[in-house]
Amino acid sequence: MRRGPGHACRMPQARRRNGGAKRRGEPFAASRRLFAKLRERLSAGDSSLAELTELVAAELAVEVCSIYVARPGEMLELVATHGLRLEAVGRTRLRMGEGIIGLAAAKGELLNLADAQNHPEFAYRPETGEDRYASMLAVPVRRAGRTLGVIAVQNTEPRAYSGLEAETISTIAMLLGEILSGLGAGEIPASGFGDSLSRRYAGHPLAPGIVRGAALPFGRSIGPRHVLADDPGAELERLEQAMADAESSLDALMSEHLPSGHATREVLDAYRLISQGTGWLDRVRAGIADGLTAEAAVDQVGAELRGRMRKIADPYLRERLADIEDMVERMLTALGAGTPKPDDASGMILVARRLGPAELLDWHRRGIAGVAIEEASAGGHAAILARALEIPALAVEAGATEAARPGDPALLDAESGALILRPDPEVTALYDRALASRSSRAAELAAYRDRPAETLDGTRLTLMLNVGLAFELDQLARTGAEGIGLYRTEIAALAAARVPGIAAQAAEYRRVIERAGDQRVVFRTLDLGADKLLPGEAEDAVENPAMGWRSLRVGLDRPAILRRQLRALLMGAAGYRLSVMFPMVATVAEFRAARDLLEAEAARLNEGPCEIEVGTMLEVPALLFQLPGLLAEADFISLGTNDLMQFLFAADRGTPRLANRYDVLSAPVLELIEGLAAACAEEEVGFSICGEAAGRPLDALAFAAIGVNTLSMSGASILPVKALLAATDLAILRPVLRELRRAGAAGGSLRDPLTAWAREHGLPI
Ligand code: PEP
Ligand code: MG
Repeated sequence: MRRGPGHACRMPQARRRNGGAKRRGEPFAASRRLFAKLRERLSAGDSSLAELTELVAAELAVEVCSIYVARPGEMLELVATHGLRLEAVGRTRLRMGEGIIGLAAAKGELLNLADAQNHPEFAYRPETGEDRYASMLAVPVRRAGRTLGVIAVQNTEPRAYSGLEAETISTIAMLLGEILSGLGAGEIPASGFGDSLSRRYAGHPLAPGIVRGAALPFGRSIGPRHVLADDPGAELERLEQAMADAESSLDALMSEHLPSGHATREVLDAYRLISQGTGWLDRVRAGIADGLTAEAAVDQVGAELRGRMRKIADPYLRERLADIEDMVERMLTALGAGTPKPDDASGMILVARRLGPAELLDWHRRGIAGVAIEEASAGGHAAILARALEIPALAVEAGATEAARPGDPALLDAESGALILRPDPEVTALYDRALASRSSRAAELAAYRDRPAETLDGTRLTLMLNVGLAFELDQLARTGAEGIGLYRTEIAALAAARVPGIAAQAAEYRRVIERAGDQRVVFRTLDLGADKLLPGEAEDAVENPAMGWRSLRVGLDRPAILRRQLRALLMGAAGYRLSVMFPMVATVAEFRAARDLLEAEAARLNEGPCEIEVGTMLEVPALLFQLPGLLAEADFISLGTNDLMQFLFAADRGTPRLANRYDVLSAPVLELIEGLAAACAEEEVGFSICGEAAGRPLDALAFAAIGVNTLSMSGASILPVKALLAATDLAILRPVLRELRRAGAAGGSLRDPLTAWAREHGLPI
């Protein structure tokens, strides 16, 4: 807001759009004047809402300024206006989500509409006389994560409000938050919106587990108490000090909780780069120069960034939002305006809109038992850290943070994907039983850790792990897995937001190999693209990214990155055995070209691995029709069911509606896998399955029955799969499966009848 001339170049469009109107030709002066007057009135103790609307309308080029406040029962009431009919004050009421005002409140988002009347959510209230006004800017008034009301401005001329106008009204909304929260419980509902009924919010598990505990909603910071400052120099000093404090508190957290060499340190380092590197601090400094306090400037720039990032469709870039927000929160805390946190949050379930990795680490230190985050994805830094720290975590649907009240009983189910606030007693009892049986099942399963993976009839299998970061190798000891069947090297690149240099990669690969001891590790070369994008890659978005220029295709067309990775792998594995696997191979020629690159790199090095095996993922159906050539050249093949299924059935793997439409446990897919396993065995080429299906006990059992003996899966699957294998006699299962395949030749799922058979035989599925 109120940027000096140096800032004008950052908002060329907004300036150009506004150039025409005379009054708006001097926007900086107008908002400066407005703030100066506000400062005067507030310091004189004069904060009448009606006067505030008058002042805004007088100083900015708006014809209407109105204030709505939250009332019990999820209602918003018009309490002050300049421009609408005064008889509407106290009469006009809108529900949360109703009309533009209700929508801004429900979404917690600024709405800037050139033609509000034709917006599908517009709700006409004749008593207001607002039919003359075309454009509307509605900004929610929030404090401590609660929506307290909405401030809106309107004009007859249909126009979008400029970035500067939006910033100015956002600052007023911030001030209004202070004023409204100071008015007392009689005027404003103390807890904002919310009710006492049980509420269930669906979600996607990010890190597994089920927890029962007290809810701890963590909205945005309570917001700055002081918005306007007299001495910009002093505020700048406070800002610099806060930056130093935020940094050193993160250092302290990391050294206390992440031992040196812990791979999640890379995640935190990446977070630091992102949170410091977007130029947002310059904007904060500009805000201070314009008269805001340090905390108000941080808060405002954070809000502006959130608004912009929210419009970005790319999930990876959106995840970076959480990192910036995390940094904003830490800075506000350092400035004395952060949300107060209990020192002891033992056993509590944190419910947050967004959460960055540093905040999560901080909450972990306070003893948090689980976390539900509204805007999170599995590849985000918080999710990676939650898995590393083994904190059950859920990406929960929007609205949970708003609905949760501190201390509410809550159930976090990061297995089936739900957050239940204020659960009914029957639901609580159900979960208590589930938790009790989980802990006894966990004890039973633990007994399988040191046993070989073997079926009742003595068929021996090799169960390996799918991992993506070095620290996950801890799971080898915890699960008794026999090596790493899929090391997804792109995960470290995603966590660091860039492909690390050769030396860093080599060091990482060496660490992995050493941690694995004498166990085999299959390194898959970078599988970037499609849903795994590094910053900047989103710009090339194409309609069908899963089938686009991704993975090995990029590696072969631009071989520099692949070569560097291969060199790093060879260096990291010097003196050890190296297994390299290429992803998304579609032709034998591609496999050959990739292997040639590896060989060329190996020839350049003096000291390399003592043995190298080279294999391929089988994810592209075309490869199935080149088997003789492939089997003659590859040392091993690993079937990626995730991608193979999506290409085989033309069914996007990320579309929930298709998730259960086609099944690996179906006659055509089992036929394919059986043939492939037999062909590999005949040519003495290693064969394994490493897609998600390999980790589902029933699927793993079916694979074992059709001749697959190596499966690679996530750590959580190893023991349940071992337990089911141990209880099953394949000699009994095989004819049953044969019959089911015959009966299901039309391609439908065999899951239900197979499940029924397993249950009938008392198998642990
Ligand atoms: C697969 O496609 O099955 C696979 C294991 O690879 P990713 O899930 O990493 O694409
Ligand atoms: Mg794949």
